[in-house]
Amino acid sequence: MENNNSLKANINSRLCKGCGICVLFCPKKIIEVKQDKAFINNIDDCIGCRQCEYHCPDFAIVVGDNNG
Ligand code: SF4
Ligand code: SF4
Repeated sequence: MENNNSLKANINSRLCKGCGICVLFCPKKIIEVKQDKAFINNIDDCIGCRQCEYHCPDFAIVVGDNNG
């Protein structure tokens, strides 16, 4: 079921170092690191909580409303 929150996480793979911190903090467990880059498996499940954005040490994640 798609949620109504239009805020979605966007990962800038040029900045991502593949540390996996965002994976640990995402309450929906939709982020995965593959070949040292983070990916979001099911963006429809993203609730826009910004936990990934707050905790990424490389500022590689921005949560915004342009991806819903
Ligand atoms: S926390 Fe940031 S640098 Fe680390 S894997 Fe996630 S997006 Fe990449
Ligand atoms: S905004 Fe929240 S739900 Fe969406 S990917 Fe980041 S931590 Fe996960």
